[in-house]
Amino acid sequence: MNFFKKLLTPPPANRGTFYPFAVKCKRCGEIIHGQVNVNNEPSAEYDENDKPYFVCRKVLVGNQLCFQRIEVIFKFNESRGLLDREITGGEFVEA
Ligand SMILES: [Zn+2]
Repeated sequence: MNFFKKLLTPPPANRGTFYPFAVKCKRCGEIIHGQVNVNNEPSAEYDENDKPYFVCRKVLVGNQLCFQRIEVIFKFNESRGLLDREITGGEFVEA
């Protein structure tokens, strides 16, 4: 029995829920696609009523010769529905 092979088998690809998004660089117009693993990536924070919500911050840089950094912040509720999103350096476009 190949013990190590068994250990190295990756978990099913559908573990976790992915929230896909796309942004457009405001400097060069490049469209950059990304995704958030809403089960693993966001970290818990608490609002003024001690109600938890989940925040994920990402910095995206395109493949072209452009040094614009695009920062996105997503906020999710407890059931991982999108509450709010913010972006600097670009704009959200259809994923
Ligand atoms: Zn750019």
